[in-house]
Order: sequence, then structure tokens, then C-alpha cells
Amino acid sequence: MAGASGGGLVAYADARSDLDLASSHGPTKKKVVILGTGWAGTSFLRNLDSSLYDVQVISPRNYFAFTPLLPSVTCGTVEARSIVEPIRNIMRKKKGEIKFWEAECFKIDPANKRVHCRYTTAPNSGWTDEFLVNYDYLVIAIGARANTFNIPGVEENCHFLKEVEDAQKIRRSVMDCFERASLPNLDEDERKKNLHFVIVGGGPTGVEFAAELHDFVSEDLSKLYPSVYGLVKIEVIEAGEHILTMFDKRISRFAEEKFQRDGIDLKTGFRVVKVSEKDITMTSKSTGEFSEPYGMAVWSTGIGTRPVIVDFMKQIGQGNRRVLATDEWLRVCGCDGIYAVGDCASISQRKVVEDIAEIFRIADKDNSGTLTVKEIQDVLEDFCMRYPQLELYLKSKRMSSILELLKDSKGDAMKEAIEVDIEEFRKALTDVDSQVKTLPATAQVAAQQGSYLARCFNKMKDTEEHPEGPLRFRGSGRHQFRPFRYKHFGQFAPLGGEQAAAQLPGDWISIGHSSQWLWYSVYASKQVSWRTRLLVISDWTKRFVFGRDSSCM
Ligand code: FAD
Ligand code: MG
Repeated sequence: MAGASGGGLVAYADARSDLDLASSHGPTKKKVVILGTGWAGTSFLRNLDSSLYDVQVISPRNYFAFTPLLPSVTCGTVEARSIVEPIRNIMRKKKGEIKFWEAECFKIDPANKRVHCRYTTAPNSGWTDEFLVNYDYLVIAIGARANTFNIPGVEENCHFLKEVEDAQKIRRSVMDCFERASLPNLDEDERKKNLHFVIVGGGPTGVEFAAELHDFVSEDLSKLYPSVYGLVKIEVIEAGEHILTMFDKRISRFAEEKFQRDGIDLKTGFRVVKVSEKDITMTSKSTGEFSEPYGMAVWSTGIGTRPVIVDFMKQIGQGNRRVLATDEWLRVCGCDGIYAVGDCASISQRKVVEDIAEIFRIADKDNSGTLTVKEIQDVLEDFCMRYPQLELYLKSKRMSSILELLKDSKGDAMKEAIEVDIEEFRKALTDVDSQVKTLPATAQVAAQQGSYLARCFNKMKDTEEHPEGPLRFRGSGRHQFRPFRYKHFGQFAPLGGEQAAAQLPGDWISIGHSSQWLWYSVYASKQVSWRTRLLVISDWTKRFVFGRDSSCM
């Protein structure tokens, strides 16, 4: 890309002019830079009308990975290549010219509207590997990293299950453990140690991996390693009292009972404090601290913020927060032209209590100091659109309208005759904000955010003149766009043995073999291309017919 040069600044200048030149086709088009090719970034790209913008995508990975099938890759139920789609395949189908740089962004510079990047595949012959990219709009979709909670030895000794490479490494490592345990000159304790598989974290990923591993061992490896098969121990360590706590209690209980029947050792209420090359050390109230030898450990205890985001947060005055905050339109708070979607950010929903005086002022059209039923009805739609917690609250109380809420706070008065002053209005709405929910870090949320934002970008021009959003309660006029709303379609927990649990909207629960078939069909239909759909289905079929492959490659 840039010419040979050693110095950072010169290198920047070189690279910059090159990139600018490369993207100088439509002089009037605004530059949109997308960081990341995961769920959020890819969903944004697929839904964006790329003929309207000058689009550049930057990611260290030139493919999209279907993460829900990663646990299946760890045991060879599906192949790694079946769940990835090259990003250039996706770009090719889009209008306009989109550019992709296989690089990692290591610094965001909001003051100068540019990002600092580093090639991940730079040749080492004196080429510079750092460059700058300017943007008008920046869409940050770089996801999160695995969280070790700074527990010593985790980084060095445990596997994570976040990327495709992780899943491939785990697959090799499982087979290595079996081969090592089968070597001729080992005593029984050594064999047992090698076949002790520890999974830290009882969330969906940890549980699904444990279930996959159990199936792999009992269905396939038991036939290939009959002499050592009996020594296998699979252990799930969870600090909380239960596993799968994000699911309904019935699912969590079913999973615990199933694991017990399957002989998976479930240690709830145990906290891992250290991991060395040979031992894993944990503690619980009843046992105190103790260590166990292990063969392989997988760490899956949740996610943390990537360093580049931590640095960015410091720059924009969010240094004391845990996650990057955006507003309800996914714009990074305190920045201009920067959006964040997916696991790297979290929406900070405005509270009704904070705006109560403004809401009252706008609603009280005749400045009477009181709100009539008509006045409230006139702003109700905007009110609910701007503060989704209001609708959730009414639902949770099984109320059909805010009027009943007001009646509640006012007592006996007839509905139509209700007229409230600001204190009564405030009183009726005090508990509404208890319904503000943070969205989970899931592919479903990330994908919906990506497509929502793309739709906003597609409508940017039209909505400047004809804003479609709710009334601005602080300020005048309307918001340009409707705020982002998440629609939950339910979630699955595959539990092994061709059984899965499904929790669908409206507290609808289904557990068993039929849910597993639902799981197969949903995950096949959610594939991003016909190519991957076909590959995944053919992998499943191969597995049914021939079992999983057990070679250490
Ligand atoms: P990611 O998909 O992680 O994408 C981040 C992208 O940013 C990647 O392309 C990465 O290479 C790139 N990137 C990283 N650093 C940089 C940088 N510095 N500069 C530029 N680019 C960068 N969710 C569900 O809803 N259902 C499930 O069943 C489910 N199962 C899961 C199973 C596993 C094993 C895992 C790990 C996750 C699962 N999830 C599931 C969660 C889901 O994968 C995440 O919520 C989702 O990937 C978040 O999307 P994202 O786009 O924010 O981040
Ligand atoms: Mg009035």
C-alpha cells in the first residue's frame, strides 16, 4: 500500500494519501467507515444502500462467522469453513464500490475524524503496516473480548471460545488429550488428569460446549478409545447458584438434571481463583480453597471491553463507565458522527423522571398548569416511542393506557374528567423507569442494531426534511429517526443428546427433541448465504451417518 518508509508520521502521510486517492470516486459522497465484520458490522453492511456512501470496511478478519455454531465446531459436528462467509462475497453483491482493509483499528481519533489502523497481514519487508482512514460517519462494531477478570494463569492456560480459531484449537486439544491419555507408559492418575475437561462458566456457551463434548465422547470417542473412555470427567464450574440463569428457571433446572444424569460434574457456587499449567484452583464456601489437576480448560465467563474502546472512552469523557454508552439512536454519547452497535456498546436509555418537567411542558399546550385527558392523548404516541419503558410498565401492570395509571395515582376520579398537575403526573410515573432494561450481548441484538442503523443511513436525506421520530421533549421539533427498538424472537440452549431448550416470547417454553429440530431449522434458515446453509446441513447429515471426525488436525 504505502511506500517503504520507517518513520510513523511519514508512513501515515503516505498511507493516507493513498487511501484518500482510492476513495475519491464520488466527491460528494460521505465517507462511512465500518469497524468489524461480525454480526453488527455485517448486518449494517448488508442492509446499507452502499450507492449513497463511500464505504470502507476495516476488520482483522476478512469473513463473517456464525458464532452460534462455534460450539459445534469444537467437536467437529460442523466444520469451521461451513460457518464463515468471506466478507468480499457479501460486498460483491452490493451496489457501488466498497473497500475492505484487513486491518485492526488501534486508535479512534474523534477530534480529527479519523481512525488509526494496522495491517494484520502486512509483509515484513520494510513496508509500513500502519495507516489512517478519515471518516464522516464511523460505525464501531468491533465486539468484545473474553473476560478473564484478571485471574492469574487464565490467559496463558485456558482456551477461550470466541473466535473460529479458538474452536479449532479446542477441537485439536480434545483429541490431543485422548491421544496423550492412551500412551503406553502412563499410570491411571496421569490418564485421568489428561481426560479431565474443565469448563469455567455456566452460561449458554459453556453449557453448550459441555453438552457437545459429552455427546462427542459418548457417541464417537467411546468407540475409538474404549480403554480410556471410562476415565473421562467433564466438569462445569459456575460461581453462581445455578447455570443458564438468563433462561427461565424451568430450563435451568432441566439442564442441571440432564447434566447430572449424563455424569457431567456440575460445581455451582465455586469460584476459580488461579489456573496453572497443571492445576486449576478454586474455592467455595463449604470446601475452602483446593486444586485439581486437569487436561484441558475452557474459559467462558462473559465478555469485557476491548482496549481500543477503553482508550476511546477516556478520550470522550466516558472513562468512568464500564461499557461504551450510546443514545437510543445508537450514536455514541458525546461524539459527532460516531455510532456503536453490537457487543462493544450499550444503550443508555433516557429516564422519564429526568425529563418529567419537559414532558409536562410540551404536553400542556394551553399552559394551564394541568394536563387534560386530551392533552395527554395528543402526546401519548410520542411519549411511548421516546420512552419504551412506559409501554413495558403499562404492560407489566396489565394496563391499557396511561390514563389508568393517572387514575391510580389520583384515586376515584372519572377517567374523562381527569386533570393532573405536575406533582400528580410525577407521582403516576415514578416507577416507570424500573422497566429500563439493558439489552443482552447477543447476535440477535447486534444484527438488529446493524440493520436498524443501515435503514437510518438509507433515509438520512429524506428524514432531514421530514423527520419521522418522536417529539423532542427537551428542545423543539422532532427527532430525525425513531429510536432503536429491540424485538426478541426467543433463544435456544442446546443441551446435547439431540435435546434443546427453547424460550420463546411470551414465556413460552419448550424442552426436548422437538426443540432440537426447531433449533436445526432456525439455525439453517439464519445462515447468511445459501453456500453456508448447504455446508452446514451437509455437515449435520454427515455427522448423523458417519459420526464426528476424530483426527488431530
Ligand atoms: P462480533 O461478532 O464479535 O464481531 C466483532 C468484529 O470486529 C469481528 O469481525 C472482529 O474481527 C472485529 N474486530 C475486533 N477488533 C477489531 C479492531 N480493533 N478493529 C477492527 N475490527 C475489529 N448470540 C446469540 O444471539 N445466539 C447464540 O446462540 C449465540 N451463541 C454464541 C456462541 C458463542 C461461542 C459465542 C462466542 C457467542 C455467541 N453469541 C450468540 C453471541 C454473539 O456471537 C455476539 O453477541 C455477537 O457476535 C456480537 O456481535 P458484534 O458484531 O458486536 O461482535
Ligand atoms: Mg393544560
